[in-house]
Amino acid sequence: MRIDIMTLFPEMCEAVLGESIIGRARKAEKVKVVCTNIRDYSGNKHNKVDDSPYGGGMGMIMSAQPIYDCYKSLYNEENEEKPHLIYMSPKGENLTQKRVVELSKLDRVVILCGHYEGIDERVIEEIVDEEISIGDYVLTGGELPALVLADSICRMLPGVLSDDLCFEEESHFSGLLEHPQYTRPASWKDREVPAVLLSGNHAEIEKWKRKQSLLITKNRRPEMFGKIKLDKKDIKLLNDD
Ligand code: SAM
Repeated sequence: MRIDIMTLFPEMCEAVLGESIIGRARKAEKVKVVCTNIRDYSGNKHNKVDDSPYGGGMGMIMSAQPIYDCYKSLYNEENEEKPHLIYMSPKGENLTQKRVVELSKLDRVVILCGHYEGIDERVIEEIVDEEISIGDYVLTGGELPALVLADSICRMLPGVLSDDLCFEEESHFSGLLEHPQYTRPASWKDREVPAVLLSGNHAEIEKWKRKQSLLITKNRRPEMFGKIKLDKKDIKLLNDD
């Protein structure tokens, strides 16, 4: 898969994209991530990419043309399909694990980072396929949201994590939150690891994990819990002391 990030701050993105799982996935060529500086497409000698808003208001707006030219430079219109373009925006649909999995199946996505007060609406209408938000709050720029999206997609790509179980058992993949996790030592500050996890009884351990997952989801995210199809075993687990 190839992920392009269109940004005014490519160094900021590269600093994150070179590290940890995503950095290793890039080195191993499991994913190609390319950052392109929108400013390189300013088309003027002052490299200006923004202007004041029509109708007045605070701050500056990113101009349409540099974003459009930058996007058009990323693919050959004559023999390549238009890559799916996502604009990171607080006005977009909230990102979910389900959408991450869907996006990870595409061959290519381009992520557009806004800055200042946002971008000219006309370029959104012209080229953007989808607007995604990472939550109901406003950040300074789209770079952190783009990195969140790129990271979450990379984790889903074949061979990036050591085993599919790494993400299948994690929070949100199947609509549940993950059970609590522990590591050595078995006793720490008079807090003990639940005995079942030390028992070596794999069936009981799996039951414990499932029950904890159900309980934590029920308590913390009742709206998520309401969507889970509980089977007889789940109901028994929840009713058992
Ligand atoms: N004036 C805009 C508004 O009120 O909707 C906010 C602009 S924000 C300061 C600048 C850029 O940061 C946006 O264009 C967008 O790319 C990015 N951004 C900010 N918050 C975001 C969020 N919650 N999710 C995704 N992108 C966000």
